Amino acid sequence: MSFLDSEIWIQLMTLIGEVTFFLILGMLLAAVALAIIAAASITRGKFYLPQILIPGMVLLEGLVKAFCKLLGLDDKDLITFFITLRNTMNTKAFSETPVEQRAVFLPQCLRSAQCPANLTPEGLKCRNCGRCSVGENTAWLEKRGYRVFIVPGSTFIKRMVKKYHPRAIIGVGCLMEVKDGIDMSDRIGIVALGVVNLKDGCVETVADWGAVRDAAMLGIKHSSDPVDFHGPAE
Ligand code: SF4
Repeated sequence: MSFLDSEIWIQLMTLIGEVTFFLILGMLLAAVALAIIAAASITRGKFYLPQILIPGMVLLEGLVKAFCKLLGLDDKDLITFFITLRNTMNTKAFSETPVEQRAVFLPQCLRSAQCPANLTPEGLKCRNCGRCSVGENTAWLEKRGYRVFIVPGSTFIKRMVKKYHPRAIIGVGCLMEVKDGIDMSDRIGIVALGVVNLKDGCVETVADWGAVRDAAMLGIKHSSDPVDFHGPAE
């Protein structure tokens, strides 16, 4: 009689099967519970049980998203919620990162349609001409030690990350840009905070500069106020 026919082997396989079954069942139940908490948080505009939601999302994000969709949650609400959740999860690590190791990425659509900035290998170089709010805010961020980039295209961020190795970034943009940026940062091990534009579109979009500055000041000065990353563009 071979080992594969032995009682020990059969018992071992049965045990593995049972453990796997209960693990999957446990994961599904946990994902349903997390989706319900997320749905309640989104519909009431309040973060419920973040101490459960945050670690749960790290383990089961894909499943939770699927259940949230089954619960009828709107894609936009769901993405906004997950950006806020990610921001909350990343706030501590971001605060602990020295400002010299941080960077800010701004989308070029924030510029005035008459922007005279030149395109360089380091992105668009703002001349602080006063035609839009990018100039004064870039100067404000740079004064606090940030490396600020105005992003001319999709591969630019990866190129600058490869060149300057920031450990933490603030990404500004429309809802999907911010979400994709946070996902990309997660994949490459960078702490990211996302700030969604107040007005999106292709030209002369409007950033939530208050939220950008609040995020930028994390860990730089003590603030007891929670950071409000605000919602997406209307
Ligand atoms: S302030 Fe900067 S980004 Fe805005 S229009 Fe002038 S040069 Fe362009």
